[in-house]
Amino acid sequence: MTLAIVGMSLLLMMAGARFSMELGEGFSRRERARLAADAAALAAVAEAAPYGRNEQVAQARAFASANGARLIDCMCGPGAEAVQVTVAVGDVEASARAVLDPSRFAPVSIAYPSDGLHPHLEAAVDRLLLAARGSVYVVSGWRSSPEQRELWADALARYGDPEIADDHVARPGSSLHEKGLAVDLGGDVALAASLVTTLGLHLHRPLAHEPWHFELVGSRASGGPRMPLVTGVGAR
Ligand SMILES: [Zn+2]
Repeated sequence: MTLAIVGMSLLLMMAGARFSMELGEGFSRRERARLAADAAALAAVAEAAPYGRNEQVAQARAFASANGARLIDCMCGPGAEAVQVTVAVGDVEASARAVLDPSRFAPVSIAYPSDGLHPHLEAAVDRLLLAARGSVYVVSGWRSSPEQRELWADALARYGDPEIADDHVARPGSSLHEKGLAVDLGGDVALAASLVTTLGLHLHRPLAHEPWHFELVGSRASGGPRMPLVTGVGAR
């Protein structure tokens, strides 16, 4: 889904760049205005799709401009699944209408390898990712013991001292990732943290130095003492 939207945006941007370069004087103002109106309408309506940001007018203006036109009007309220834009090249105006078919985007799927995750953690992460509308993604979920062993071995090779390696990577057998009780999130981590509160998810971030590391609340209750808080980048 993300790819579809990103792909659409890239295509529109490329279209804009190409028109700007090639149209020159070869196209009439009317043709340029029509193409700019098409691009602006598509860009605006895409904002209502999953992962759009409801910035219809801003996108319409940007794509009109990329095609050498200026935006005159955009009938495109927030969340509108049908938009109509009017642009102008010089004194020549053109309008275009674009309609989004929501069924093309449903169901929204945010794929990540959820194998091995505790079902409560998976359910919470699913809700968070959906609410984040593509701004948050899973960097690392469940890890097998060999994977954790490899991460720790890498840290040992890098720092040359097991104690320092411990500060950055949990020892094999002691990471909550291996138990499917933790995920590392990427993207807008601050948004992820605020969604945990807003949605009332049973997640928390117990490691001050790893703000991207989210665990199920209570995961450490029977898991022994909490890891010491240290500075650095690691893989708990
Ligand atoms: Zn982690």
